[in-house]
Amino acid sequence: MARIFCVANQKGGVGKTTTAVNLAAGLARIGQRVLVVDLDPQGNATMGSGIDKRSLQLTVYDVLLESCSAAEATQRNPKVGYDVIGANRELAGAEVELVDLERRNLRLKQALAEVGDAYDFVLIDCPPSLSLLTLNGLCGAHGVIVPMQCEYFALEGLSDLVNTIKQVHANLNPDLQIIGLLRVMFDPRITLQQQVSDQLKAHFADKVFDSVIPRNVRLAEAPSYGLPGVVFDPSSKGAQAFVQFAAEMVQRIDRLRPLGSRPAAATDSAAGPL
Ligand code: ATP
Ligand code: MG
Repeated sequence: MARIFCVANQKGGVGKTTTAVNLAAGLARIGQRVLVVDLDPQGNATMGSGIDKRSLQLTVYDVLLESCSAAEATQRNPKVGYDVIGANRELAGAEVELVDLERRNLRLKQALAEVGDAYDFVLIDCPPSLSLLTLNGLCGAHGVIVPMQCEYFALEGLSDLVNTIKQVHANLNPDLQIIGLLRVMFDPRITLQQQVSDQLKAHFADKVFDSVIPRNVRLAEAPSYGLPGVVFDPSSKGAQAFVQFAAEMVQRIDRLRPLGSRPAAATDSAAGPL
């Protein structure tokens, strides 16, 4: 069964989508079967995977409103090597439409349960908010990957996200864990970035991934070609960092508790999602 991960950070423009599509492409390169779910009305993960969001007949919006199955909404661009459930502006309406519906937090979880056997990884690209859409992502996932830039305000935003994840873990989804914090757009020449990176490691220890994604212009150029950087320019520093990160993810999930198993109850709730 697939491991399902949200790529989440309520801060905008921190590298969520770049992480989702490049991790997907990196995992595909090392033989993993991957589905990317675009849970952002901006549709950047959709476009960045070479799928035109404007011409989609079925999107994650239809999946959330249960007018189609996850499999029916799945697209494939053979160039990128992974599947995509796309999104476009229509998804912004789901936020309002879901409010009055039953099981509104669990729509995505239920839809993904039907396709779980077809994939090793499902990566959910969340919007830059702690909205009902993000909540659907967090309720449907086994873990959260948090991309962050090593800047002063990044740490401040992180506590809101960690608190949300703790609440979802406690009340809605006991499977949810923070898998790790990924340092992105990193420039080691900037002293502040080094300092924030050191603080992150001091505070979150091995929850900080070893892989570091450098600031790299090829990663920024790739979406305009409808490709993840890993496919667009595999020899670039950014692409290589994401392939290394994919390998680290595969290793790291081997260390997670097996799916469906609950550790001894006392330690589970005490440990929380961190
Ligand atoms: P949003 O919150 O709007 O969804 P996001 O968190 O998904 O944004 P991205 O869209 O992935 O962030 O990245 C924001 C911008 O930074 C994009 O223009 C992207 O191409 C660029 N970018 C992301 N990662 C890198 C990197 N490692 N090096 C250079 N540019 C990058
Ligand atoms: Mg994004």
